Amino acid sequence: MVKRNMDVPWSYEGENGPEYWHTLCDWYREGAEFVYQSPIHLQHNKAIPSEEIAFESLHFCYRTERFTEKEFKNTIHFIPFECESHVVFKGVTYALTDIHYHLPSEHWIDGEQKPVEIHLVHMDKAGTNLVVGVLCEIVPEILEDGPLRQSEVWDLDQHLEVFDPSVFLPKKRSHFHYVGSLTTPPTKGPINWFVFDETAKLSRVFLSQFQEEILQGNNRPLQDCNNRKIYYFEDSSH
Ligand SMILES: [Zn+2]
Repeated sequence: MVKRNMDVPWSYEGENGPEYWHTLCDWYREGAEFVYQSPIHLQHNKAIPSEEIAFESLHFCYRTERFTEKEFKNTIHFIPFECESHVVFKGVTYALTDIHYHLPSEHWIDGEQKPVEIHLVHMDKAGTNLVVGVLCEIVPEILEDGPLRQSEVWDLDQHLEVFDPSVFLPKKRSHFHYVGSLTTPPTKGPINWFVFDETAKLSRVFLSQFQEEILQGNNRPLQDCNNRKIYYFEDSSH
């Protein structure tokens, strides 16, 4: 019997840092036994192009809805009230359940790490996760197509935000796809990962709404690829 204790503390440094997560409890140990861990280093020249496989792309069905923001698990989360936004992959619908941040990015692309990575976490009816990763650079200005300008309501005092989660996606939807794990304890898998290769922009003004000491350094180090297959899907519509 594996104890599922959500309260076992973990962090990104020291004696309960990433290299010790699997020792903190049985639940974390069991998750870490999945061989394909995340994040990983993604490289265009090692990825399998989508034309060479029967690749089914990811469809975004995001809509404007209500979110609340919460601080837990070493980051800031936006949680939808009704989970109306979803994606469809291989005929399966995965509801958007959580949006959160890592500073700096967890995935690397072609040898580069970026200042921020946004994770849009989805779940199907069976409880299987699908995560979309967006690597971002930080710009000083408030972006016209960013969350602060595009949101209908943005009220951190009331913990109520009304926005279309598409504000966090880059325009070009080319992406890597691979099977990995959660990047936080219990680091379980398999999880379908989709990571865009276009670097999105995130406003410094947007980020500075949150306490940066929570956000800074909340990235799990790169994990071994273990010869897994990494696919690349080119978006030719842009
Ligand atoms: Zn994450």
